[in-house]
Amino acid sequence: MEKNDFKRFCVVIILTLTLHLITMPVLLYGQKMNVFRISFLIFHNFLAFWVYFFMALVKKKKGFVEYNEQTTELLRKEPNKYCILCDNYKPERAHHCSKCRQCVRKMDHHCMWLGNCVNNDNLGHFIRMLLYAVLSLLVLSVFSIYSIVRRDRFGPPFLFRIILVFVVTIAVLSSLLFLALGFFLIERFIFVLKNLTYLESCNLEAFKENGMHHLIKSPYNLGWWKNLQVQMGKPYFLYMYGEEGDGLFFEKNFECEQWPPRQMVDRWRRYNEIPFLP
Ligand SMILES: [Zn+2]
Ligand SMILES: [Zn+2]
Repeated sequence: MEKNDFKRFCVVIILTLTLHLITMPVLLYGQKMNVFRISFLIFHNFLAFWVYFFMALVKKKKGFVEYNEQTTELLRKEPNKYCILCDNYKPERAHHCSKCRQCVRKMDHHCMWLGNCVNNDNLGHFIRMLLYAVLSLLVLSVFSIYSIVRRDRFGPPFLFRIILVFVVTIAVLSSLLFLALGFFLIERFIFVLKNLTYLESCNLEAFKENGMHHLIKSPYNLGWWKNLQVQMGKPYFLYMYGEEGDGLFFEKNFECEQWPPRQMVDRWRRYNEIPFLP
């Protein structure tokens, strides 16, 4: 495990313990431990991971194609892989992000919520953030609904009504968010299992619509088990950090220069004005 990964895990553990310490006295004071209280502790664990991965994604902009000796050399060997806007080498699976104004290695999409590009270097963290967000929201929605159904009257009626409105609001919001993010996570996880970026999936749909069936086979699909490890890391690290690779070259299951083929990308760019292909 690298030093940075160890630091990341320490941050999550400290964050979780702090949340536990803040809420434990309130939850346990004069009370017996029950399902409701245990669920809050589980919720804090998931929340800590969610916050951590969100912060990691927002804080660090990475995944850009650097201008260095290696890329200059690569450009000399493959002059056709060139971005006119960056005046630099443009590897296969890279795209020029109009928001970041740079070429991004294995670009997935530019996320407006994170203000960052999801790409070769942080796709794993993006999936992990979604997973912990969905798990947190699941626990929160199930137990807020449970506490509404099993509500015991307490204190003055006025105070009880205010708390009830508060819990109902949380239940509605968390359930809606859980459904929205849950579907989004499933969609993105299927892409991970196919080793497909969002941009590539758009191309794939277009190929299918236009009857270009000879182009729908992606060379980057190495089988779901390997695809999962390529993007999420090894199972014995519980997929908590990943094999990112250099984002310049990719293992393929058949010989080809890049996918979609470069000529296809150039032609579509000219005639169809596909916005994500500058
Ligand atoms: Zn570029
Ligand atoms: Zn971007």
